[in-house]
Amino acid sequence: MTESLSSDIRRFLERHHYTRVTPRAALIDMDGTLYDSMVNHTAAWHRMISEEGIPCTRDEFYLYEGRTGASTINLLFRRAFGRDATKEEIDRLYKRKTQYFVELPPVNVMPGAQRMVAELARMGITRVLVTGSGQSSLISRLDTDFPDMFPSDLRITSRDVTKGKPNPEPYIRAMQLARVSPSASIVIENAPLGCEAGDRAGAFTIGVTTGPIPAKELRDAGAAIVVDSMPALANMLPALILALMTTSIDG
Ligand code: CA
Repeated sequence: MTESLSSDIRRFLERHHYTRVTPRAALIDMDGTLYDSMVNHTAAWHRMISEEGIPCTRDEFYLYEGRTGASTINLLFRRAFGRDATKEEIDRLYKRKTQYFVELPPVNVMPGAQRMVAELARMGITRVLVTGSGQSSLISRLDTDFPDMFPSDLRITSRDVTKGKPNPEPYIRAMQLARVSPSASIVIENAPLGCEAGDRAGAFTIGVTTGPIPAKELRDAGAAIVVDSMPALANMLPALILALMTTSIDG
């Protein structure tokens, strides 16, 4: 185990007043983590919101990643019009964003993600999908792209939560589904709001930089460690899980 990994784990244990992390379930984000889909999501959001006459930049949508669709629309409506969107506006606009997403070229599985998930399964760690997305076109591909890896009764989507990330609710609900405590959970995330949600839920949160957001932002948001690519995480998972199980501080 490297010195820096050991000190990152100790810092996490102290911050959460845990003596040890014993990983039994991995709570895994979808967009930008399992699928290389953020380029398409940001394009679809930018097109739809621009058409509404709301000034916005393509890159700002990377920062909203993890929010529910309604929450992102409300944030932009408040900025542009000083009010929340109505229920009708949210339904209509999110449907159009979803349509624009579907019209774009199909997204690819994130390189390294299948190997990363297979490593978790090999080590006997339960996988739970946790996404703020209601993008059914991607959710329905999971069984094909990750066969037997994400049981259908262990999935949290936008339909299951009232508060999206950065609220810890999606990850707390995932822990309840998998019947694990926070200190028996790890979270795998690519976005600042997702890392914040994972850490606030009490899980050892692994940030993976798969897009333009720098590692420091993931760390500042609450990631216990940050890994610079999904293949790198797949490579280091066995050593990381062992390090977690063998690092403890006296309560
Ligand atoms: Ca994500």
